[in-house]
Formats: sequence, structure tokens, C-alpha cells
Amino acid sequence: MTSLVSSDHVVVVGAGLAGWRLVEALRREGFEGAVTLIGDEVHPPYDRPPLSKQVLVGKWGIEKTTLATPELVEHSGATMRLGVAATGLDVDRAAVALDDGSEVIGTHVVVATGARARHLPFSSDDRVHYLRRIDDVVRLNRDLEALEPGGVVAVIGGGFIGAECASALHTRGLRPVVLEAAPRPLIGVLGEQVSAWLLGLASAVGIELRVNQVIDDVVEYGDGLRVMLSDGSSLDAGVVIVGVGVETNVEWLSGSGLVVDDGVVVDEHFLAAPRVAAIGDVARFNWRSVIGIESVRIEHWEVANGHASTLARHWMSGVEPEELMVPYFWSDQYGQKIQMLGHAQPSDHVLRVSGSDEGAKWLALYSRNDVVTGLVSLNNPRALVLSRLLLEEPTTPEQALALAPWSQ
Ligand code: FAD
Repeated sequence: MTSLVSSDHVVVVGAGLAGWRLVEALRREGFEGAVTLIGDEVHPPYDRPPLSKQVLVGKWGIEKTTLATPELVEHSGATMRLGVAATGLDVDRAAVALDDGSEVIGTHVVVATGARARHLPFSSDDRVHYLRRIDDVVRLNRDLEALEPGGVVAVIGGGFIGAECASALHTRGLRPVVLEAAPRPLIGVLGEQVSAWLLGLASAVGIELRVNQVIDDVVEYGDGLRVMLSDGSSLDAGVVIVGVGVETNVEWLSGSGLVVDDGVVVDEHFLAAPRVAAIGDVARFNWRSVIGIESVRIEHWEVANGHASTLARHWMSGVEPEELMVPYFWSDQYGQKIQMLGHAQPSDHVLRVSGSDEGAKWLALYSRNDVVTGLVSLNNPRALVLSRLLLEEPTTPEQALALAPWSQ
């Protein structure tokens, strides 16, 4: 691999967390060449996690989410092309076509176009909201402000985004009703056991959570909306929020020759072609874990950050990726903090090693083939951090119990 030199020009497509962090990391690593950051949103790069937390509660204005302040942008020397979408990529020429008819030609291209909220196949009523972008939360806040105190908001999907929205709405004095299709929220992410432990969190703070709710339609009804369910029942609400997962933003790459398989497929250096990389939510990468190498796509803030630093280091000095990456994720739901390390599968075996439901504070280990694959904690950040070492080299659950780092 030849390192980047000052005559190189890195074109970064997607001005979100991963794209912006790459700009910062390239400069930190000493890259003196040109950098162009292209983003279809008009806003400079900002942080998404607060949108469903502090911003939705009303504690933060949207400006507080900004990552790329004018001073930082100036300091980076990057050329910002905001409010313009990439429509095509010519890999051989490192050329990105834009929807204003122009083209940006570099020497290297980074795909950091992330993901968008998956839409329901019905209802285009603008009171049916999705939450991915600043513009989404601005529109949602406007509609929520028009509701009376105690007004009903249907939250379709009890996953991380749905639960965070419901918590924020409850704090605002509204009445969220969470409609979850599965028998328990997060069962497909955290597995049978952990989702059962978390089931009571919503009702403990007085939030109504209905499970096994399959939505057939959302229709206009009087001044509001009516959510029609497949069991024949319905729920009337002033506003509907949908949190049913994401789809990657890869359509602009069609015809580029890059391999796309639920994300852009990259190698251990995040390269999809010799001078084209993909990072963040959009990248399907080879994750080196205690279990071996797995092909994964991970939608975590910390992972997007890590990709950016690793790629910048590799392009600047040929540094190999760290031996093992331990993904981290957090979520604030129903007044509680859930944190995860590793990337366990829902079918992995689970063992709670500290705490209990009653104390609303615990730590559990996931394991597969007798190797610890992940950790999940409720309101116990210290135990989680102390136990990280269990994911840094292959550890059996028995060895973990003998070490018991969480009890230090
Ligand atoms: P994105 O943030 O999606 O950024 C991609 C950017 O590229 C976007 O601005 C997009 O509009 C732009 N783009 C797309 N297509 C094009 C195109 N053709 N041309 C130009 N630009 C384009 N993670 C956690 O770990 N913990 C949390 O608590 C947490 N909370 C979250 C709450 C919310 C509401 C959301 C939406 C996400 C949350 N996440 C959380 C996930 C985290 O924010 C993502 O992992 C992170 O934003 C990924 O960054 P990214 O840059 O890869 O993608």
C-alpha cells in the first residue's frame, strides 16, 4: 500500500459522523492534501443519538448536535459540498457524480452514506414520522407541540429508537403507546432472555407497551390518525412515530462495480476497491472478534468513529487494523441505561453474573461455543467497563466467572 501524499485528493461522500470523523482523522494523521466532503443534507455534520434523546425531550436545541462547527471546518481545510447528493461513482477515475450535474474527481473516494429510516409500505400522511435526520425531529417537534398534554402518540416499533422516543414523549407529558410486532421488544437483537428482563421497563414508568401488534394501515381519522391492527383493533393517535429499522444508502453506487450486500462489502482495511473505502453504518466489514472473523454491518456511533480512525491510519501510514475491535453501544430507555460491548447474536447463551431485575442494575454475559461474545448491562457502566477484558481475548464463561472483573 502506498501512503497518501499531499498531491492526493480524498473525496468523502456522506457528511455524517463517519464522514466528518474521517476528515478529522486524516488531518490528525498529517494528511496535507485536498479533502472534499459531500453531503445531501444542508446541515453540517451533526450527531444523531441526541435527536431521540435530549432534542426530543426539549432539553437541547438542534444546534447543540453540531459536530462540524464553522471553526472546525475552517481548521480542517476541507471543501464542504452540502445539500447536494452523489448520484454515481466511477471507481477507476475516483469520480463522484452529483445531482446538480457536476462531478468531483479525486484520487481516493470514501463511501460514508450511512442509512435511512425504513418506511412503512403504507400511509404518506405527514403526521406519520420517522427519526433519522435533524429535519425529521424539527417536523416531529412541530406536530408534538400541537398536541394537548396527555395526547396519544402511537410509536410503531419497540426497538431502540421506538423506546427512546416513547421515553422522551412521556417526559414531555404526552401519552406514547408503543406497538411492537414481536412478543417482546428487542428480542431479535438481544435474544429471548435479555428481552424478557427488559420487558417491565416501560410499564414501570407508566408507558403502555403492546406486543404482538401487527400494523395493517394508518389512516386519517377526524383530526388525527387511526392505526389499524391485523387483529381488527385500532389505536387513535394525534401523531405516529415509526422506528422499524434502517436501509443502507447504496443506490447511488449502482453500476459502480462495488459489491453491495446489505451494505458495501469491504476488506479488513475498509477498502471496497484499491482507492475506494466504505466506513460507518453503510459498510459491511470483516470484524475480527474473539470468535474469529465475521462479516458484519454495525449501526453504532462508536463503531463509525473507529472505522474513520482506522482507515485514516491505514491510508497515512499503512498501520494494520487493531487486532480486535470491541463494538460499544448504549441506549437510554424508560429512564434506564442499557449498554453493550461486543456484537453478540440473539441466539447466544446468556448468563446474568451480577445484579437482578429488582435492583434494576445488572450485568450479563453472552457466549457461543463456550467463548464470551458480548456483555450487556442495565444501569451498571462500571461493571461493563471492568469486564471489557473478557472480549479482548477468547475467554470461557467459567474463566469469566473465576476472574469476575465486574465485582472489583
Ligand atoms: P449517517 O449518520 O447515516 O450519515 C450518513 C450521511 O450521508 C447522512 O447525512 C446522509 O444524508 C448522507 N447521504 C446519504 N446518501 C447520500 C448521497 N447519495 N450523497 C450525499 N450524501 C448522502 N448509536 C449508538 O451507538 N448509540 C445511540 O444511542 C444511538 N442513538 C441513535 C439515535 C438516532 C435517532 C439515530 C438516527 C441513530 C442513533 N445511533 C446510535 C446510531 C448512530 O447515530 C449511527 O451509527 C451513526 O450516525 C452512523 O454514522 P454514519 O456517518 O455511518 O451514517
